[in-house]
Amino acid sequence: MTRRASEVSLVAHGGAGAVGPREERPERRRGMLEAIRAGARVLRQGGSALDAVVATVVVLEDHPLFNAGYGSLLNTDGAVEMDASVMVATPAENQAARFDVKAGAVAAVSRVRNPVRLARAVMENTRHLLMVGRGAERLARRAGIELCRAEELISPRARKRWRERMARQGGAGAAHGTVGAVAIDARGQMAAATSTGGVPGKMPGRVGDSAIIGAGTFADSLGAASATGEGEAIIMATLCRAAVGALARSNPERVARRAIASLIAPRGAEAGIVIVDRRGRIGYAHNAGSMQVGIYDSRAGIRQLWVEPLTGRPGS
Ligand code: ASP
Repeated sequence: MTRRASEVSLVAHGGAGAVGPREERPERRRGMLEAIRAGARVLRQGGSALDAVVATVVVLEDHPLFNAGYGSLLNTDGAVEMDASVMVATPAENQAARFDVKAGAVAAVSRVRNPVRLARAVMENTRHLLMVGRGAERLARRAGIELCRAEELISPRARKRWRERMARQGGAGAAHGTVGAVAIDARGQMAAATSTGGVPGKMPGRVGDSAIIGAGTFADSLGAASATGEGEAIIMATLCRAAVGALARSNPERVARRAIASLIAPRGAEAGIVIVDRRGRIGYAHNAGSMQVGIYDSRAGIRQLWVEPLTGRPGS
């Protein structure tokens, strides 16, 4: 059976959290647009949703103003430990209703420049889903993924902010800059990817939602989602899985608002989510101080915006 070409679209987020310094906004905007351009290029050339979300997230991981890869925030020991995951739902050949679904993730890795690439390698090169520690690094070496010294991932900005935070209040506090992306390609494949340095004040060994399939990242035959915000609350809500499931009954815009308003806000937590469905429709929402998103679709092209937080009740 021939499948009709899908509307392609891509949405990325640059984290939900406190409103960051105003003077960093122009550079963050440039970084997000560069990332969306990288993902859009893949989709325009007929590439896969998986390639598009990974290309987008890699640019954000390499950018020092985002909390992922180089520039990740530091744990209370002053070290980088990063989480990342990917998930992809691919229409099965000749069976319109069936999708093949695969996922991979890494947690608390500290010597990999692009954890999203390693999460993809877990998905593609192993029988496992979530890997940590030395085994994950060994896989990186085998898969030709660049390793570095852990200190090379610490940007001067991250070190400075860590010192200030530790002096102030023992490390806790709000940050933003986790990154993620969701996309659908012309063949109907949907993918999600998320990558983070975690939350401020985290203990060594803490793992957040960005490594947990169903929480920070999810994709199936209905759509794909990537989350950001307080990982513990996102894990308890299995936020992305719940949101993608709700696409059976509603559109991504409403689903995003409801996911934040009904699953996150009642826990007294802050989070954000971006979603794409199988028709290429997108949705995003958050209840934090700010959330940056970048968008590409074939009709409107590329854009980036700072999304206003939810107020009041979500639309029904
Ligand atoms: N969700 C991430 C975590 O808990 C942090 C974030 O999105 O800002 O590790």
